[in-house]
Amino acid sequence: MHKDITKHPCFNKETAGSCGRVHLPVAPKCNIQCNYCNRKYDCVNESRPGVTSSVLKPFQAVEYMDKVLAKEPRITVAGIAGPGDPFANPAETIETMRLLNQNHPHLLFCLSSNGMGILPYLDDIAELGVSHVTITISAVDPKVGAQIYAWVKDGNVVYHGEKGAEVLLDRQLRAIKGLKERGIIVKVNSIVIPGINDEHIIEVAKVCATLGADIQNMIPLKPTADTPFSHLSEPGRETVLPLRREGGEFIEQMTHCKRCRADAVGLLGKDQSASLCGTLQACSKLKPLEAKLARPHVAVATREGMLVNQHLGEATSFQIWSEADTGGYRFIEERQAPEVGCGPQRWADLSDVLKDCRAVLSAAIGETPRMTLEKNGVKPYVVDGVIEDALRFVYEGGDMNALKVRRTGIGGGCAGGGGGCG
Ligand code: SF4
Ligand code: SF4
Repeated sequence: MHKDITKHPCFNKETAGSCGRVHLPVAPKCNIQCNYCNRKYDCVNESRPGVTSSVLKPFQAVEYMDKVLAKEPRITVAGIAGPGDPFANPAETIETMRLLNQNHPHLLFCLSSNGMGILPYLDDIAELGVSHVTITISAVDPKVGAQIYAWVKDGNVVYHGEKGAEVLLDRQLRAIKGLKERGIIVKVNSIVIPGINDEHIIEVAKVCATLGADIQNMIPLKPTADTPFSHLSEPGRETVLPLRREGGEFIEQMTHCKRCRADAVGLLGKDQSASLCGTLQACSKLKPLEAKLARPHVAVATREGMLVNQHLGEATSFQIWSEADTGGYRFIEERQAPEVGCGPQRWADLSDVLKDCRAVLSAAIGETPRMTLEKNGVKPYVVDGVIEDALRFVYEGGDMNALKVRRTGIGGGCAGGGGGCG
């Protein structure tokens, strides 16, 4: 379908009065910690990224999209901008984009990420018709980055200081390059932080321009309570305007950003997130009827059928469970796993074996199977506990982390059986 890519109000100021955007808050987790971010506050009068009234599941986001379009047909862009990072929640992000592509193919799709986890999904992004991506890059020198990021998480490894900033920067720069190779329009958001990176931000402009980024958005820091940068002051026009002028010699500058919330909706100058807050909250409570029909089951890696206690890579079969009509859960069948030793294809085959499952529960999982399963719509959970407890979290929601600490003493972790988990 032909889309008019000029109808994005953030990338084209001319359309800001006639085209609107909606942010779908489907991505609650983040894989880095910026020293200016605190996502625990929810105030409808507060307007800044990282904040939302409710978090939606992908099927709820599509319902919400229908309702938003009915109330505000001038919306031309559907985006995901948190409240965490889209690629710290890749399954939710990709599934939401897939559903939007199916249901509202005429919309422009937009993603806003810190760039840390985006690389494995570049092809998906392009295939799903995402036309605009924003990567937030506030430093191109790990020494400066180390002052901005408290930590950076890469899979199960957490980096601090310059090493963390270096890992993040590498991903961000490769992300710009990969997105441009796929013909996607790239905006770079750079937070201007007085005394930290204000004298460095032109360097960011230069480096990103060299990689082909289309536009830079210098956003003045909004100091937030309970963050390491809460004591800094917000840079004013006298700081930001000259920086934009100088940066504009290397890359086009955005000058009309509204620093939107993760659930922003409406025209940029006429945000309707307050009036649509009730609709958003109602959608966040919808039951996953369609999802239930498409993926009614949950797969479990277990040795004896009572505990989740097998490493995914070791499991030669999975128990398949479902909700019982009379309440509780019922065992459906034992399903054979694909043979060990066929490389990454094994995880694509496992996704196929579990194609009617919304989740798989195991005691541990490698990075490759985790990503492959997520991409194919099977959400992996690492659990150490009783199967029925874990099923309740999957079907009814809640904090699955509570189960991770409940040690049972029966084969909780990876036994290192050479199952090839990752
Ligand atoms: Fe917050 Fe976004 Fe930074 Fe994550 S990337 S810590 S959500 S500002
Ligand atoms: Fe557009 Fe800025 Fe709002 Fe993002 S935060 S949607 S770039 S106006």
